[in-house]
Amino acid sequence: MRISRDDVLNWIRNCAAAVADNKEYLIQLDSDIGDGDHGANIHRGFQAVLSKLPTVADKDIGTIFKTVGFTLISTVGGASGPLYGALFMQMGTVTAGKLELTLADWAAAIEAGLNGVILRGKAILGDKTMVDALMPSAKALHEASIEGKSLPDALRTCARAAEKGMRNTIPLVAKKGRASYLGERSVGHQDPGATSSNLLLQVAVRTWTNGAS
Ligand code: ADP
Ligand code: MG
Repeated sequence: MRISRDDVLNWIRNCAAAVADNKEYLIQLDSDIGDGDHGANIHRGFQAVLSKLPTVADKDIGTIFKTVGFTLISTVGGASGPLYGALFMQMGTVTAGKLELTLADWAAAIEAGLNGVILRGKAILGDKTMVDALMPSAKALHEASIEGKSLPDALRTCARAAEKGMRNTIPLVAKKGRASYLGERSVGHQDPGATSSNLLLQVAVRTWTNGAS
């Protein structure tokens, strides 16, 4: 089983829908430990992505991801705009020219995207950021790919790792971004960026497995 270009386009559209559905929730999380704009920021970005998507729907997957990245950088702002921009730009770099993706390609894309986020934001695991959801996900995909797991199994393992990583941010002290200004007072709150990152990976499993085992 492979991920086709249409699958990728559907994932991005479903991400936009899921972000819209979770906009208020993400705003609430960011109000607790930030400035309350995360939900509105990425919603604005993904709405812009939706309107750009038709212009690249017949291009290779790398071009599609890079266009998502550019669009997020130019419309989201805040800390998360350049970070999600870097994620998708790097995903686009390693999938350049491809019209479909194997599990190994998807694992490489998420790993490259994570590295883009780390290069830009300098966060490490445990800093209470989106890296805490993305890093375990990338690791799970990489291991699943090496073990020869099926794509649906790998996507499910990845989504579980993302959710766990997101929940693991609750007891952490924020070390990066606005939440870090709160120091110890950031403890007990789930990180908004880890929550939106988890959302994107939950949407991947929902979009691409169709309930298949
Ligand atoms: P801002 O903090 O500028 O208001 P957002 O509210 O849109 O931006 O995004 C906040 C999220 O960005 C945080 O919850 C965190 O996950 C993520 N973030 C902030 N700084 C960094 C960083 N240096 N590295 C990785 N992620 C970060
Ligand atoms: Mg914010």
